[in-house]
Amino acid sequence: INFAKTYSPLTSAEIVAQEKSNMDEKRFKHCIGVSETSRKLAELNDYDPDKAALAGFIHDYAKQVPPERFIKVIKEQHFDQDLLNYNRAIWHGIVGAYFIEKELKITDPEILTAIRRHTTADVEMSTLDKIVFVADFIEPGRDFPGVEEARKVAFANLDDGVGFELAHTLDFLITNRKKIYPKTFAAYNKWAVKD
Ligand code: GDP
Ligand code: FE
Ligand code: FE
Ligand code: FE
Repeated sequence: INFAKTYSPLTSAEIVAQEKSNMDEKRFKHCIGVSETSRKLAELNDYDPDKAALAGFIHDYAKQVPPERFIKVIKEQHFDQDLLNYNRAIWHGIVGAYFIEKELKITDPEILTAIRRHTTADVEMSTLDKIVFVADFIEPGRDFPGVEEARKVAFANLDDGVGFELAHTLDFLITNRKKIYPKTFAAYNKWAVKD
């Protein structure tokens, strides 16, 4: 893995080491998978492959940050206090971007927004937002009923990949009676509904 020094004053080796120290081996492998799949999706969709690969690599940087640290940041950094009604599944993207900015020293707004949106998606989605959102779902390490179909759809058309993923996620959340974050719901209405 090698990231040019375009998006952080840290060296590539420093970013990789910091990322590795912030998560277990399984999560780290997932991040490498998302990075590689983000690169592929970028090539297919006329987006900068190196930038997509970096965004994919760091997307779950904060996934295993202790909940107390998230709660402190949500309270002290003026995040929407409704976030306190959710958990790390939602926090690690929206609030995780804060840790990525502070600890990996990434300032690029496109990368930070893609990280914020990678779990819930949103009504407005840039090409990079879609790439990271979809790559997270279909990277080679993912194994769930329907993943082959998800890959086929996403590699054929990125927007269709976003819609497929949101339909699958809403289905999962409703089946398991999980609380739906408003942005997930709004994103479903925007990207998944077939009129
Ligand atoms: P991961 O970090 O690679 O595991 O993947 P994601 O960041 O995409 O998703 C993390 C978890 O958040 C998954 O289990 C999703 O099903 C879950 N999730 C996504 N949207 C929502 C939502 O609106 N509400 C809740 N409660 N969970 C959600
Ligand atoms: Fe995630
Ligand atoms: Fe995701
Ligand atoms: Fe992920």
